[in-house]
Amino acid sequence: MNVSAYTPLDAPLIGIEGLEIADVYLQQVMDLIASTNELGLLKQYLVLSLVVAFWAYVLFFVFCSISYYIFFVRWKYIFRPDSEPQVPVGQVRREIMLSMWSLPTIAFLTSPWFMLQLHGYSQLYIYDPTVTWTQTGLTVLAFIVFTDSCIYWIHRWEHTFPWIYKNIHKPHHEWKVPSPYASYAFHPLDGYAQSVPYHLFVMFCPMNVFVYMLMFVLVQLWTIGIHDSVDFIGDKKGSWISKIVNGSMHHTIHHSKFIYNYGQYFTFWDKLLGSHYEPCLDYEGAKKTQ
Ligand SMILES: [Zn+2]
Ligand SMILES: [Zn+2]
Repeated sequence: MNVSAYTPLDAPLIGIEGLEIADVYLQQVMDLIASTNELGLLKQYLVLSLVVAFWAYVLFFVFCSISYYIFFVRWKYIFRPDSEPQVPVGQVRREIMLSMWSLPTIAFLTSPWFMLQLHGYSQLYIYDPTVTWTQTGLTVLAFIVFTDSCIYWIHRWEHTFPWIYKNIHKPHHEWKVPSPYASYAFHPLDGYAQSVPYHLFVMFCPMNVFVYMLMFVLVQLWTIGIHDSVDFIGDKKGSWISKIVNGSMHHTIHHSKFIYNYGQYFTFWDKLLGSHYEPCLDYEGAKKTQ
């Protein structure tokens, strides 16, 4: 049953016992989204773009503000003490201003992908009882490997080609010491390019629509998380997890040194291609390793 062709109430949407109430609400949401197919292409494009822009603003302001309040205001003395590099005065306002422009622009660029999905041109499906949890887990794994690899290369190319760097990626590197609000403070084409692998994956590989949405929200939260410079995975001490995961101190180094740590979730490609810089080296006064 694909996303555009489902019949309301002919099957549970998520198929997990105990979550029947969620099924009812999700059914209403899916009805509403699917009903845009009857609007005609132009109206559907405008409606979807505005709805996506609205929810992008909501996600941005809610989660960036929570992160900013906790780490940069309320418990600043723990997470962002004065001994560490500080976000310059006035930068947060400029990060928000740039995001206010980039988020809706990305929404308008992204809507055609959602329209393709709603008109049945993707491999997204609603609950399918024949799909096992193992298959779902493997799909998520493939999704992460594919998107993480693509984003490494897109990001690296943005630094490799001077014209692209200067015109597309440089605005995001204005923030040498980023705040959470820097997570979406980039040129819209930069943000859009880095989102394309997500849409591309489901054009070829079957995936449950709710798992897809979950992965989409997860990457938004991850992006905010790697811009707060708060070390939750032991980056500074060189913990075993920091060897594998591209934590927030990894991305902080990307912002301050430019040519290292292009990855998103994992350090795999950076390590393989010699662009990895372990954050603990700065904190222990040692040298960069390849
Ligand atoms: Zn960069
Ligand atoms: Zn960044």
